[in-house]
Amino acid sequence: MEHYLNYIDGEWCDAPNSLVVINPGTAEAYATIAEANIQDADRAMTAARRCVDEGVLTAVRPALRTTLMLKAAELIREIADEGALISCLENGKTLLDAKDEFLEAARYFEYYAGMADKLEGKSIPLGIDYIDFTQYVPFGVSVQIVPWNFPVSICARSLAPALAAGNSVVIKSPEVSPLAMTLLIEAIDKAGFPNGAINLLCGQGSVVGDHLVRHQEVDQIVFTGSVATGQMILKNTAKRATPSVMELGGKSAAIALQDANLDVLLNSVKVGIFFNAGQVCSAMSRLLIHTERYEEIKAALVNMAESLTIGKGEDKADITPLISLEQKNQVLTMIEQARKDGATIVTGGSAPDLPGYFVAPTIIEATPSMQISQQEIFGPVLVITPFETEQEAISIANGTDFGLVSGVFGGSLNQTLRIAQQLRGGQVFINEWFAGGVETPFGGVGLSGFGREKGQEAIYSYVHTRNIAIRLEMDSSQ
Ligand code: NAD
Repeated sequence: MEHYLNYIDGEWCDAPNSLVVINPGTAEAYATIAEANIQDADRAMTAARRCVDEGVLTAVRPALRTTLMLKAAELIREIADEGALISCLENGKTLLDAKDEFLEAARYFEYYAGMADKLEGKSIPLGIDYIDFTQYVPFGVSVQIVPWNFPVSICARSLAPALAAGNSVVIKSPEVSPLAMTLLIEAIDKAGFPNGAINLLCGQGSVVGDHLVRHQEVDQIVFTGSVATGQMILKNTAKRATPSVMELGGKSAAIALQDANLDVLLNSVKVGIFFNAGQVCSAMSRLLIHTERYEEIKAALVNMAESLTIGKGEDKADITPLISLEQKNQVLTMIEQARKDGATIVTGGSAPDLPGYFVAPTIIEATPSMQISQQEIFGPVLVITPFETEQEAISIANGTDFGLVSGVFGGSLNQTLRIAQQLRGGQVFINEWFAGGVETPFGGVGLSGFGREKGQEAIYSYVHTRNIAIRLEMDSSQ
């Protein structure tokens, strides 16, 4: 079995203990990785602090960061195939989806490379006696905690703007899916970033993650993961009032109006909830359907779901495995609870007889207040609910504690835009779920978190504003 390492202060380092990474498509051990401990975390934080104190990324012309980041993007593309294979085996996703993650990571580096030298402040008029201006100042040491579902692209999503703005970064990779990230960081670092500017640790969240977020050297935290962990981190960092970006879970709804195009809708549902086996924070986990189209759309959805293939990522299956046995059991428990609550399992609802961690594509008819309509499932499970009026649809869509994304499917621009402006959350898709890209701001409200990633807006999550006000000397001759 191959053994992977942590990256601290410019060196790949082993540790006394290891974590075993399981291939979720086969449920067999695939590789091991050095399990970072508290001392490793301290060394990474010290190195990152040294970079900040010595100004290795900030005392130079920002254009140098642009050059390093463009080189990094090139190097990420070069290892995309090799990295995708590892991601496919450790994470269960298809080779194509795994490669897309690397290509997206390269795009983040290109996109934010272009912003490194454009973080321009303002000049603020205060009258003839003053000169006043603002500067965007990097926080310093950014601690970034990454989840397992899209470790490569999520890692790059936070790392690229942080570096562009001049921060040093300590990344904590997810225990169950850390390997492809080591290739990503290796490629990025080869571009020539100073030692200590980028550090990568794989360790237990409750040990290394917890130590990093409470560390005295942390200046900013980017957490992407579950609501429960996000809340714990907020509590643990309140004492130091550490600024943070929280990218948490979701229970996002799409609204299918009377004049929704069926093919467009089906394509969006297929990627919206069944891509990556539904393990997507912005998954379309609920579909609200106008009563006039309800039976027709339900039948088409069942047809589509039952035509999907289930299997390993290597086999290019439509429904790939869940990340772990724990995740699979959690999804099955939630389906069982829905059944007990009186929901109807329209299709799926069980685990196929395969060695990996699979759950069949599932569609459940449920009322808006049932637990299955309110809690994040993180599996290939779509909840469908009928509605009669536009206002009812909006109120059901907005009726959870989350607010990440939502979608509207319909033929009238007037109606879809009118509804879009009343939906709670950071992003609304009209007639295509997941429309947008690296360029479009992303983030939540409510239990989905706060702060924005992606787009130009995200870079302002990695800096604070410093205002400098200068009183000019008075002219005594006047
Ligand atoms: P998780 O909260 O279990 O773990 C996320 C990360 O936090 C892991 O690296 C883990 O080791 C670390 N961690 C755990 N305990 C910690 C602690 N006490 N202190 C510091 N770090 C700790 O989440 P997960 O199961 O890996 O990911 C799935 C969740 O992530 C879902 O809820 C999903 O919606 C959410 N997510 C959100 C986004 C987004 O952008 N909004 C993207 C992907 C996933």
